[in-house]
Amino acid sequence: MKISRFKKSLKTLKFFVINFDYHEPYQVLIDATFCQAALQNKVIIEEQLKKYFQSTIKLVTTQCIILEAESLGTPLSGATMIVKQFHVHKCGHEGIPVPASQCIKSMTQGERYIVASQDRTLQTSLRKVPGRCLLYLHKATPVLEEPSKASKKYIFKKSQKLFSSDVEKHIERLKQNEGLQNDILNKARNKRKGPKNPNPLSCKKSKKPKAQPESPPNSNGLNESRKTNMKSKRKRIKIPTHVKAALKSPQ
Ligand SMILES: [Zn+2]
Repeated sequence: MKISRFKKSLKTLKFFVINFDYHEPYQVLIDATFCQAALQNKVIIEEQLKKYFQSTIKLVTTQCIILEAESLGTPLSGATMIVKQFHVHKCGHEGIPVPASQCIKSMTQGERYIVASQDRTLQTSLRKVPGRCLLYLHKATPVLEEPSKASKKYIFKKSQKLFSSDVEKHIERLKQNEGLQNDILNKARNKRKGPKNPNPLSCKKSKKPKAQPESPPNSNGLNESRKTNMKSKRKRIKIPTHVKAALKSPQ
């Protein structure tokens, strides 16, 4: 098997494992149409599928599938022989068999089956249901079909829902935190409602003009400040000019 083909099938399988709980051993539900195609293309189903999946697989079928193949007689006798080799899983139609396609649809509702079929109508119908995994033969090559649009859409919506619920949870957490903060603030406010302490600023003592340090008294017994006060208070005596001249002139 080519590496690229293996990688592709592995990617598809991973999608179903991660998103739809498929797990090992992978159960491959095989119908007579798949067996017929295998016979025509000389494919040994078990051998080829083990190589293809490179994982543990379990090949299963149902009583309804076997009965339908048997009812078709000779043209499908080879396919009937092949399909009878697989494990027969109980389908719930024991005693009242239903068409193989109908049986397969009902089987895939509960369990995780990889449906191996060449039935186009069945494939189309299963593609419409999210989580259905299809396998078919392209000539002698098994092909695990890529996830259908329905499967992809389902997962996209699911992830969006998860994302939005995560965002909602985050917002809720933020709101709760905000609520707590508001509670703390309210409590702090309520505490202040009691008798208010006087504003510390209003309690400040008014500034008194600084007392001028008194300068030591001089020899006259008067300190400097008092002296200046006396000076300013002393009346100026206007001396007449002729007296001034007489005073200046030498005697
Ligand atoms: Zn059945």
